[in-house]
Amino acid sequence: MRIVAGAKSDVGRVRQGNEDSYLMREPIFVVADGMGGHIAGDVASSTAVEAIAGELASADVGDPDSLAALVKKANAAVWEKTQSDPSLRGMGTTCTLMMVQNSTAHLAHVGDSRAYLLRAGELSQLTDDHTLVWRMVQEGRLSPNEAEHHPQRNIITRALGLDADVEVDILSFDLVPGDRLLLCSDGLPSMVDAERIGQTLAESNEPQRAADALVELANRAGGEDNITVMVLDLVDSEAPSPPPGEDADTGAIPQASRGTAARADTPVEQRGPAGAANTVMHTATSAPSVPKHRYWLRRVLAGAIVLAVLIVAGVFILRWQLGNSYFVGVDDSGLVTIFQGRPEAVAGISLRSEAQQTQLAIEDLPEFMRDDVEQGITADSLSEARDRVETLEAQAESFSKEGAGRRNGNS
Ligand code: CA
Repeated sequence: MRIVAGAKSDVGRVRQGNEDSYLMREPIFVVADGMGGHIAGDVASSTAVEAIAGELASADVGDPDSLAALVKKANAAVWEKTQSDPSLRGMGTTCTLMMVQNSTAHLAHVGDSRAYLLRAGELSQLTDDHTLVWRMVQEGRLSPNEAEHHPQRNIITRALGLDADVEVDILSFDLVPGDRLLLCSDGLPSMVDAERIGQTLAESNEPQRAADALVELANRAGGEDNITVMVLDLVDSEAPSPPPGEDADTGAIPQASRGTAARADTPVEQRGPAGAANTVMHTATSAPSVPKHRYWLRRVLAGAIVLAVLIVAGVFILRWQLGNSYFVGVDDSGLVTIFQGRPEAVAGISLRSEAQQTQLAIEDLPEFMRDDVEQGITADSLSEARDRVETLEAQAESFSKEGAGRRNGNS
């Protein structure tokens, strides 16, 4: 069997830069999705992909047993960069690597990028997501539907570059001619549901066309994240050759501006009835038969009344909004705390009041999660905010358990 491949990586519609990287060098195919918020996720993913490409140039990659070691070398390369440059601390990347050999596919996987198989029109996900919500679904604490909309669905529990060593999932399975494989960063499945992905893959003949169509779908759905899609067709060697595909090589994305993710921190606006105000003002001008000074006086008075009504309405709306908003943040002593109000200040005025302090210190959380908490994780009610805290506590606990074995001498 031989492979026909197509790939596309796109910045999406919201992010400033593309933090995804990919590699196509038969028989190895890799998708890496960098993370780190304001830190250089693009550096993380391109470092991982370049480390793998470097290893391929020097080593024999025929051995599936070497795949975990290959990904661990990529991890070490990212980790070393974070250790030598403080500005890169906390960056990390996912890595989903597939090796196709004869009629077998071998996967080495860390993070929440995904591999899927389309066989006989049926799409199945081959990889587990190393995310908090995936784990909660497996433990029966969340339904798959709840997980899809969970505010912490982006928190990943395993990535390259967060520690000196990393646990790699390894998986092998047999292929048959006609199988179509998909590797993608989470920018695709977070925007397009699995059914639609399967349909699109089944409808497009050429892999490159399928990849283009999937990226377009994700962008049409909002393109909230970078999207990288790789489609691999397993073709019977006897079948006639299709037109030549894309050159198989590193698709590391050029280092664009660092992709600071747009956060959902919409500043509170006072949504006064602006249209109504105009209408009232016009009405006030139509008082013709009064002396001029009284006319102006009435006009000013009418304006002042309208303004006062607007201010009262604005304050009322703002107070109502603040009273119904909660967020999980950090207090001055470094403890994770539930606040009522909004995380951001408006015109220098703080819009928060402390609702409930917890015993969880921000220091107890994994480094890559602290940013989110420091900027405030919003919730629609106090009980929802308490749920968020519970999730963070569980995460801190499992992190300290997981980390204990791996962090010897590195922290
Ligand atoms: Ca992503």
